[in-house]
Amino acid sequence: MDLMEYQAKTVFAKHGVRTTVGEVVTTPEEARAAAEKIGGKVVVKAQVKTGGRGKAGGVKLASSPDEAEEKAREILGLDIKGHIVRTLNIVPAAAIAEEYYFSFLIDRANRNYLCIASAAGGMEIEEVAHTNPDAVAKISIDPATGVDAAKAREIAEQAGYPADVLDAAATEIAKLYEVFLAEDASLVEVNPLVKLADGNVEALDGKVTLDENADFRHPEHAEFADASAEDPLEAAAKAKGLNYVKLDGTVGIIGNGAGLVMSTLDVVAYAGEEFGGQKPANFLDIGGGASAEVMANGLEIIISDPQVKSVFVNVFGGITACDAVANGIVQAFELLASRGEAVDKPLVVRLDGNNAEEGRRILDEAGLAGLERVDTMDGAAKRAAELAAK
Ligand code: GDP
Ligand code: MN
Repeated sequence: MDLMEYQAKTVFAKHGVRTTVGEVVTTPEEARAAAEKIGGKVVVKAQVKTGGRGKAGGVKLASSPDEAEEKAREILGLDIKGHIVRTLNIVPAAAIAEEYYFSFLIDRANRNYLCIASAAGGMEIEEVAHTNPDAVAKISIDPATGVDAAKAREIAEQAGYPADVLDAAATEIAKLYEVFLAEDASLVEVNPLVKLADGNVEALDGKVTLDENADFRHPEHAEFADASAEDPLEAAAKAKGLNYVKLDGTVGIIGNGAGLVMSTLDVVAYAGEEFGGQKPANFLDIGGGASAEVMANGLEIIISDPQVKSVFVNVFGGITACDAVANGIVQAFELLASRGEAVDKPLVVRLDGNNAEEGRRILDEAGLAGLERVDTMDGAAKRAAELAAK
């Protein structure tokens, strides 16, 4: 479970990390009141579970309560990478001297913890790693020994933080490790970790992912499971019992079997490069017994995603044969039409495996508007990406 910035900072504060939680508001009027209460310059920050808010216009400085209200009005309702802003964090404007990058995460490949840190903070770390890889330190952490004061200091040095902040940074690093461990987080990221004008080091931003497998140890984490902040499409899919994950692209994906759907995402992302970087819009596994109803529910969710420009249905017939899936698709079109949700986006269907020929015949005979059949996975992915780019 990802936390919003203010929640991450609340968790930081609980473990003594220096940070400013500020006020959490949902209306421009409340933003004004919060700015009045705080006094002086404030920063109005969109609370969405995605990065790059600053670049997207979701982080704005305000010099007065009037201006805070005005900025809040601009930011509320903003769409940041598919996340609509409904909550704001109002914080006193910090006097920033320098910005650094810091994170703890799980290094699955090495069955270890990893710290990634850099003196080049504020911007996207992927970008820094790309243009200036030497500026990004990767320090493995042995979970058995963890991060004590000495290790924290070593990390700060290896990160290349300036000498005058090493002590203050090490103090925060040790506490951030405590957050990582005690909260069962799989990610604790601070970008930027800042040096303030007065020399103190503070977490200005916070990104925390909690391991849901450890929820039983943390009844207090239940407060973070905010249904209204959940992606509305994911919530609708969950209500229908679908295995759906919203992504940022334009090509809707339906497949049977998690492995097939995972590889479909890769193939679509690869094919999409040729068409201006089209990417998968979601993960949706309709499982083995793809009934017409499941197919209709899946299609309904996907076509109601405004980001989706085309849909790729990728089915490999196994226990459920392709003719059953084809009939499911035909009935799904009828079912959706009867719900007033007719399929209005181009659909590319690839059927292979058990009874593929019969399944293809059924689709061809049905002559569904906007539906194209392509018999190879690569070919179908390419066509779906091409349609999405139109
Ligand atoms: P992100 O874009 O989603 O990572 O949001 P951040 O919280 O990291 O804010 C983006 C940038 O806005 C930071 O890197 C800072 O440069 C700037 N910023 C955020 N809060 C403050 C503040 O209190 N004072 C100043 N001067 N800049 C801020
Ligand atoms: Mn940030």
